[in-house]
Amino acid sequence: MANESNRQAELKKMVLCTSCAGIQRNWRRAPGHAELVQQSSRKEERDGHTVNVTSYRCDACGTRWEYENDKTNQQAGWSVIGQ
Ligand SMILES: [Zn+2]
Repeated sequence: MANESNRQAELKKMVLCTSCAGIQRNWRRAPGHAELVQQSSRKEERDGHTVNVTSYRCDACGTRWEYENDKTNQQAGWSVIGQ
């Protein structure tokens, strides 16, 4: 089972365009890239404070990203949410 999900993670990684593959994930203030198009933003509660979560879609490869802006969390940042 672990092997299978690893393999799927590998496949997923391979369909990212070069720009998307270069985004540093889960790191606060890591830059995105020029082909990301902003979609929407929302507010979410995190341990008693509110953070902004902005979603983007890559024009080049269609990958959907979210960027979480949490001043108190160095590990908040970019994450892939789908394609
Ligand atoms: Zn891309």
